[in-house]
Amino acid sequence: MLKIQNYINGNFHDPLSNEWLDNYCPANGEIYGSLPNSGKEDVDNAYIAAQSAFPGWSQTSLDERSRILIRISKGIEANLDRFAEMESRDNGKPLSLAKTIDIPRAASNFRFFAHAITQFSSESHQSIGQDAVNYTLRQPIGVAGCISPWNLPLYLFTWKIAPAIAAGNCVVAKPSEITPATAYLLGDICNEAGLPKGVLNIVHGVGSTTGQAIIEHSDIKAISFTGGTKTGAHIAKTAAPLFKKLSLELGGKNPNIIFADCDYKDMLETTVKSSFANQGQICLCGSRIFVERTIYDQFKTDFINKVKHLKVGHPSDNKTDIGALVSKSHLEKVLSYIEIAKKHHTILYGGNKVTVDGYENGYYLEPTIIEVDSNDCQLNQEEIFGPVVTMMPFDTEDDVLQMANQVKYGLSTTLWTNNLKRTMRLSNQLQAGIIWVNTWMLRDLRTPFGGMKASGVGREGGFEALRFFTEAKNVCIKY
Ligand code: NDP
Repeated sequence: MLKIQNYINGNFHDPLSNEWLDNYCPANGEIYGSLPNSGKEDVDNAYIAAQSAFPGWSQTSLDERSRILIRISKGIEANLDRFAEMESRDNGKPLSLAKTIDIPRAASNFRFFAHAITQFSSESHQSIGQDAVNYTLRQPIGVAGCISPWNLPLYLFTWKIAPAIAAGNCVVAKPSEITPATAYLLGDICNEAGLPKGVLNIVHGVGSTTGQAIIEHSDIKAISFTGGTKTGAHIAKTAAPLFKKLSLELGGKNPNIIFADCDYKDMLETTVKSSFANQGQICLCGSRIFVERTIYDQFKTDFINKVKHLKVGHPSDNKTDIGALVSKSHLEKVLSYIEIAKKHHTILYGGNKVTVDGYENGYYLEPTIIEVDSNDCQLNQEEIFGPVVTMMPFDTEDDVLQMANQVKYGLSTTLWTNNLKRTMRLSNQLQAGIIWVNTWMLRDLRTPFGGMKASGVGREGGFEALRFFTEAKNVCIKY
């Protein structure tokens, strides 16, 4: 049994209350370990460690911070197999995916910000005619809180921690209680890399207690959060009166818009991925597919044929395309949407639980394609966050633009067309923070990442993240 502990001040600790939570393996539905059910007092200790480390860390040279981050990156890479196995067991995602996407990206996050901090600069303004010069200092904020979800556990956890510490802050972080294992492994890697004690502290537990203690801590000055829109709204409400800096990366209901003039084969292959990768549990998945009517029937046939060949199976089987959903309660939530589909729409493919031999209690579900006749329906308006997509035809560019934007979210859009003018027109008008044209999930870590409307506030990535994790102070000198 894996016993996860909190990582505070460079050491591993049981929770002060000695209360523990069960850790489930989604592939077989069994408990395989425990994790701390940390309380406010554990968060307070993590804060004290972070606050004590801050004066030294914020004065550590950029070269030295960069070297340490590179060593963390290398430590993750050197332990790729171990990290990937833990991630897959904890989350239910195919091991192959954890090995090729999740863990390499976590290592890249540290490497990227190790370099970025040595390139980060601030502005200077010469006030001509007033004999003055202004320069802007970009100083670390102090102790930052980083809270991440279960779908891409180490990938999203490190996407926050790396820029926070690169910028000279110390961190109190909480991974999702559903997927704590790789965050636990990270503690050892940080120690081996020579990260000073207290710079990073990881406290495990449930959102409503451990997470809540972080967001309402009066001296934690910034919160970087990725998770659901409802939780994001609660965090904003709690943190705003305390004047914390806030970065919120929230849910999505992303349109995948397919025009007849696209490169069809490329579109079809990528659409299978953008619909079902990671069991559809990626905030960027294209869960609403809109297809130009002239190719709708052809697409429907071809898409179903491709999806039929996806293998739902145990995450460690290298033939598996779709592993287990993350938890029993999440599977039930996704199934509740399929019940709605049975009553009001047409299920073109899937919709059933899958029994995998030897793992009968695992949380497996067929990839599911639902045909809807209006964008107003619940299935097109609410985030399902599972291996479920809807599809419907459209006739004109204006119609599809209206439907794409007619949703409370605004995270990403995928657009398939070879018409340049149309691409430019739509990119200007689509309400989304990220627009992919003829591709999906192509990530360059320098670009701003985040959503508009109910998909979030602020941007991560590149210098945007370093700006978030620093306070700008302008100095005006008259000469
Ligand atoms: P949740 O909002 O339920 O949880 C996210 C994190 O917040 C978890 O660590 C959770 O802890 C914690 N949390 C819950 N309540 C509180 C609270 N009161 N105070 C502080 N922290 C709290 O999201 P999920 O984990 O279910 O993740 C799925 C969601 O994340 C989807 O909506 C998805 O779209 C979104 N997401 C957005 C991304 C983006 O970049 N925009 C990327 C990936 C996912 P615990 O799990 O222990 O309850």
